[in-house]
Amino acid sequence: MPDDPRDERSVLIREVRQRLESLRRAGIDWFPTPLAAAPVSRRTAQHVVVAAAEPETPAAVAATPAPTITTAPSPPPASKQAPASSLFDAADFDTPLVPPDERLAQLAALAQEVAACERCPILASTRTQTVFGSGPPTARLMFVGEAPGADEDRLGLPFVGRAGMLLTDMITKGMGLRRDEVYIANVLKSRPPENRTPEASEVAHCLPFLERQIAIIRPQFLCLLGRVAATALLDTMLPLGRLRGRWHRYRGIPTIVTYHPSYLLRSPEEKKKAWEDLQLLMQAMGLKPPPRKKS
Ligand code: SF4
Repeated sequence: MPDDPRDERSVLIREVRQRLESLRRAGIDWFPTPLAAAPVSRRTAQHVVVAAAEPETPAAVAATPAPTITTAPSPPPASKQAPASSLFDAADFDTPLVPPDERLAQLAALAQEVAACERCPILASTRTQTVFGSGPPTARLMFVGEAPGADEDRLGLPFVGRAGMLLTDMITKGMGLRRDEVYIANVLKSRPPENRTPEASEVAHCLPFLERQIAIIRPQFLCLLGRVAATALLDTMLPLGRLRGRWHRYRGIPTIVTYHPSYLLRSPEEKKKAWEDLQLLMQAMGLKPPPRKKS
């Protein structure tokens, strides 16, 4: 870090330019208000955020008119702090950002590779087909689950069984998004027989496909559903109860961990905690719950 404040300022200006250039390549070419002209120190710059990404209360969410770039007045408590969308948090990928209009073709090529994969001999010989993922290649939010089940194996799509219906409710009724606005994938692309928990070797074999999938889509937010996804992507052995309810990062992407919908079907009393996790995500994304329908 340079000692001369002029050097510090020029470093900051260069970083802003680089970040804006990467946002432009991602298809974001304007902001409602210009960047503040006042000089900021490197310390305060770490809290420069897209303001709509971090409203603190439901009222604040409702009052937030449009995304603006501003300086956050003070960081919220660490456990609830949304590390989202900081201009200075560069994504940490080995590969360059894929232009939006090339993502579909790259995902299709990767899906073909997955369809031919036989790295896990048992899974490859028992699956009906691989289940790659679904959603727009420019999705802002990506959900990652564990592995396909019987319905997914039959239809070739992720989360289409009972757990999928619950996930759809969480996305639509809970978050106010359409299901086709988010990308949904699993750690494993082939169904484990009898829906057993994936073995460590299977996760190790398939994880590179998921990592390439995330690198192409480069979502702004990740939501990991269940222990297998959290353990695989966050490289941790902590139990899910210790991972949920706070922010993590996967390669710089702000990431939330919550319960897998299959677990919530078996343990409905945990739905309240899952809802709390989704609310953290929604606050960071600037979303508010849809109005409840009167019964
Ligand atoms: S689970 Fe993944 S790595 Fe294993 S056979 Fe299927 S596609 Fe290949």
